[in-house]
Amino acid sequence: MAKKTNKPGRFCMFCGRPEGEAPMLLQGLGDACICLDCVKMASDYVKEMSAGKGAASKIDVAKEPKPVEIKAFLDNYVIGQDRAKKQLAVAVYNHYKRLSHNFDAKKEDDVELEKSNILMVGPTGTGKTLMARTIARLLDVPFTIVDATVLTEAGYVGEDVESILTRLLEEADFNVAKAERGIVFIDEIDKIARKSDNPSITRDVSGEGVQQAMLKLLEGSIINVPPKGGRKHPEQEFIHVNTQNILFICGGAFEGIERRIAQRLNTQVIGFNNSGRKQVDKENLLQYVNAQDMRAYGLIPEIIGRLPVITYLDKLDREALKRILTEPKNAVLKQYEKLFQMDGIKLQTDPEVLDLIVDTSISNKLGARGLRSICEQIFDEAMFEAPSSEKKTFHVTLAYAKEKLKNSIS
Ligand code: ADP
Repeated sequence: MAKKTNKPGRFCMFCGRPEGEAPMLLQGLGDACICLDCVKMASDYVKEMSAGKGAASKIDVAKEPKPVEIKAFLDNYVIGQDRAKKQLAVAVYNHYKRLSHNFDAKKEDDVELEKSNILMVGPTGTGKTLMARTIARLLDVPFTIVDATVLTEAGYVGEDVESILTRLLEEADFNVAKAERGIVFIDEIDKIARKSDNPSITRDVSGEGVQQAMLKLLEGSIINVPPKGGRKHPEQEFIHVNTQNILFICGGAFEGIERRIAQRLNTQVIGFNNSGRKQVDKENLLQYVNAQDMRAYGLIPEIIGRLPVITYLDKLDREALKRILTEPKNAVLKQYEKLFQMDGIKLQTDPEVLDLIVDTSISNKLGARGLRSICEQIFDEAMFEAPSSEKKTFHVTLAYAKEKLKNSIS
């Protein structure tokens, strides 16, 4: 039973909720209090009210990182995927060029630089999101990642396509001019492929509707964005965002796309004398992916037309997984070494343990995503005991790792 006191409790003077019901009360002069929810609401309100008042400064291309530098930066965090890295680096650099060029009032005879949105195709867990996130660290334009699976056609349960821009606006602190030069990464774009052209019967029924709505964003037009995201309300005030200079990077696994690529390549071969024809690398069909395959998969031609750069990511082989474990700046193993080091313990892992981790991840079909959870299983007990022990070294042998993983090795 709560203890009753005669002293009147503190409460939020904005929403009226008493202490205990409202999250954390901040005390002002005298008895004046405000709760955390109201502080946040007030802050959002001020940002929305001042939306559009900000300005974006001119980009000086000479000061921006060059494609080679962008790729070198990506190399620190992303293993392999050289082709995709290069294409992404060029696209981002050109984005800067376009911003700089289009910043000044256009002269009649001047060439207008159009944007080249990018489509990254590759199996799940091969680094598409990682690449987008990494590039965001380097940029001085607002950047946001959205998941296409939450988007639905207006009127259906889910989020309207315009919510993508709400996120970008939030990233830009509601400075519209800044948001209008941002970069958006749309993940899982394959999930909004048209149903009729797709083998899956569980596909989102409004796939094509979402694509049509997304088209407006990709092609560059003025979009009415609800400041709070989610659904639009007739009485709501909209923020107008011009998407002409926003760069869109789309990513998707496009499961089964290899079949369509193979079909296309086979069809092309019919009627040709095979001699002198370039040999098709059947093991890595994704390298041949093109707009036609995207169409066959269920993306509408208008969307494909707005994604002129199509790049692919390689499957990660054993060697790549091993490198991912140890090489990137924040490689999984480096993170565990750091965690132990913070308890004054040196982590020593035998080389065979790395092979075991990689093999377990491969046999469990987890790819790069599995590396962390496998390490967790190996190190968890030691991490429980280490902070209270006198040990200065923790040596992980193959036998120890096998014992820890005995339930996971299939
Ligand atoms: P997706 O291609 O599905 O977007 P992610 O980029 O989310 O895959 O990858 C999942 C995780 O796997 C990453 O957070 C990262 O730890 C690891 N990973 C995947 N690919 C690579 C890569 N090429 N280099 C380094 N780490 C990678």
